[in-house]
Amino acid sequence: MPPVSRGVVHGWLRHDKKFPHVWCPGCGLGVLLGSLVRAMITLGLDKNNVALVAGIGCTGRLPVYVDVGSVHATHGRALTFATGVKLAKPELAVITVMGDGDATAIGGNHLIHAARRNMDLTAIIVNNQNYGMTGGQYSPTTPLGARASTATYGNIEPPLDISALCMAAGAGFVARSTVYHVTQLDDLLAQAISHRGFGVVEVLSPCHTNFGRQNKLGSQIDMMRAFKEQAVRVERWAKLDGARRAGRFPIGVLARRDEDTTYLEAYGAMVERAMAQGREGQS
Ligand code: SF4
Repeated sequence: MPPVSRGVVHGWLRHDKKFPHVWCPGCGLGVLLGSLVRAMITLGLDKNNVALVAGIGCTGRLPVYVDVGSVHATHGRALTFATGVKLAKPELAVITVMGDGDATAIGGNHLIHAARRNMDLTAIIVNNQNYGMTGGQYSPTTPLGARASTATYGNIEPPLDISALCMAAGAGFVARSTVYHVTQLDDLLAQAISHRGFGVVEVLSPCHTNFGRQNKLGSQIDMMRAFKEQAVRVERWAKLDGARRAGRFPIGVLARRDEDTTYLEAYGAMVERAMAQGREGQS
């Protein structure tokens, strides 16, 4: 993607006393904010034709800083609000931003069914492996054995693979990246937003304040560097055997399916059939 100047990004941010932002030093959410704005600019989107929809949690704060229409929805329900916005205003690019707890615990059912419908939305799911805003409780993505404020002797539950869940449920586009891989993240967000149908990007992001401290993962920078060690581009991932995959994860486009009819197209066709039947009944 061509570079986007800081001045242009600045023009997409809200400056009416919203900054400095509320996120902790070293949190990856600021990186994601920059990536998302650059992706929208690169796609040539009009600020008046974008809607950001968020749930609750640290990630849910993100739309506050962007100068577009936004909805701060209830916990776990970002995709339901976004579905309503898209059906009412199909011309809008509707982008949801959710944390791992928001999207896959209380909102897990909505995530599965938005993917199954191949709903015309973008879902950005920030995976920081815990509930950050409320004090570091374990979430569905907390690794086995990791400590959390509600798992002080180590988490006994295996973690959920967000991207695998979305692929299995039928999402047309699924990608994963980290806030360390910024150039790739810009590109994957742009691909997801421009995808016809349900586009998901899982974004690994450090929560040093809770998950990092509780698990003695070092500084914020150490946590970012860990992503560099653990993340493997999908082209290389296919060549790794099981032993070399241990403790690592693939990044890049994990699934893409372009040929399906999207939900909006199917919905529009159904409305046409209903109207034609109504006209026949009147004649
Ligand atoms: Fe980021 Fe964690 Fe702080 Fe929330 S609590 S802003 S996720 S570092």
